[in-house]
Amino acid sequence: MTSTRKVHVKSFGCQMNVYDSHRMADTLAPAGYSETAHPDEADLVILNTCHIREKAVDKVYSEIGRIREMKEAAALNGRRMLIAVAGCTAQAEGQEIIRRTDAVDLVVGSQNYHRLPGLIARALEGEKIVDTEFPAEDKFDALAQPSPKAIAKRGVSAFVTVQEGCDKFCTFCVVPYTRGGEVSRPVEKVVADVERLTASGVREVTLIGQNVNAYHGLGANGTAATLGQLLRRLARVPGIARLRYMTSHPRDMLSGMCDDLIAAHGDLAELMPYVHLPVQSGSDRMLAAMNRKHTRSEYLEAIARLRAARGDLAFTSDFIVGFPGETEQDFRETLSLAEEVNFVTAYTFMYSSRPGTPAATQEDQVPEAEKAERLQRLQAVITRQWRAFNASFMGQTMNILLEKPAKLAGQLVGRSPYLQSVHVMANPELIGSIVKVTIDEIGTNTLSGTLAKTLPADTLAKPARAPALVTQGA
Ligand code: SAM
Ligand code: SF4
Repeated sequence: MTSTRKVHVKSFGCQMNVYDSHRMADTLAPAGYSETAHPDEADLVILNTCHIREKAVDKVYSEIGRIREMKEAAALNGRRMLIAVAGCTAQAEGQEIIRRTDAVDLVVGSQNYHRLPGLIARALEGEKIVDTEFPAEDKFDALAQPSPKAIAKRGVSAFVTVQEGCDKFCTFCVVPYTRGGEVSRPVEKVVADVERLTASGVREVTLIGQNVNAYHGLGANGTAATLGQLLRRLARVPGIARLRYMTSHPRDMLSGMCDDLIAAHGDLAELMPYVHLPVQSGSDRMLAAMNRKHTRSEYLEAIARLRAARGDLAFTSDFIVGFPGETEQDFRETLSLAEEVNFVTAYTFMYSSRPGTPAATQEDQVPEAEKAERLQRLQAVITRQWRAFNASFMGQTMNILLEKPAKLAGQLVGRSPYLQSVHVMANPELIGSIVKVTIDEIGTNTLSGTLAKTLPADTLAKPARAPALVTQGA
């Protein structure tokens, strides 16, 4: 069908939302919607929202206000614009969104995106719609696949959701309520998605899930496959050069089901040496209060086992400071854990009270000023570690996957195995290739270097085994 209408999808929050936004656009393409980067010219604006912290929700409502003005301006020009709110805020707040602002036409929960074409047709008839139930059918089966053109436009690196939802119920977190229980996709469906992506030029795939290492999708032999087994299968897909996964839970990392994942880090050259393993706190008292189901020493054991499998692994994490009841001593244990692990970077958050979660009703809430002060102290440690990690690559030659043109004419930007952004002067035809770059400048957020060598095409599918030193890259 030729495109006659335009859709603008804006993602808030995590990579799972970025992936879902792409799949929503893919599902609307057969209904005649083409994507636009400009909300003011769109016939349909979808806000794919996050509910994880209060600030994320505030952002959604202020964005609705901004889009409302565009909708009113369009109406003055005789053009109809629909506003849809999707994602976790839609799931959590449902009808309340339409009650707070009548500019919104449609509220659609995170499990119902495959129903979008029908819901939009009804909204165009003037109906206000809220669809947030958890349907029996699998949305992944019902969502349309991206066209080769859409895949190519999104670049050489892609996300694939392999697992969704969470059964862990950390006392601070809304995810089990907004995304539902844990569900894993079958191996062969994930393989088919990755094959489709590589056939259209994707070279790097990040497998995503709220607890991706709890993956237990149906394998070819009829039994549940582990994430390690899935990664080994995907490493055989023609054209795949790099595999990543996030977000892992430390407790699952220590359960027997991840032994194979840990071993895969030693065996698979395609598996990048970069692991995101959120710890939240270094205090056993806080970990118990958060219901994380592991101790500080078990977390350190998981890190040690992964490092034993591959010496050049780098770790990133998530931290929450100012969880109810957190004392200065608890917080110091978080600082000491950060020092001990030597993370290369981390997402650091002040605890945000979420209605409906157990921690929200605890009486011993930490004052905002204290949270902010602790956040600064933790960020100072992480920033120092990040700078030292980057500086360690000066003069080293790294394998860089070239992604796109940079701002400077003739320059391309790519990613290192550790997701550092690296700038290099190179021919645009090399986009999608892995090249060797010798690093000669360390910036605040990026590295720059000189092209040393282009790897031959056959190493693209099977890159050489990574050396076991952080300073040499993979
Ligand atoms: N499943 C992952 C895990 O267990 O580590 C994390 C997924 S969660 C979507 C991403 C991060 O948001 C968490 O690791 C946590 O640091 C942060 N987060 C979640 N709820 C929060 C809250 N109420 N306040 C502050 N940060 C929060
Ligand atoms: Fe939220 Fe905890 Fe589940 Fe992670 S494991 S999504 S933090 S409930």
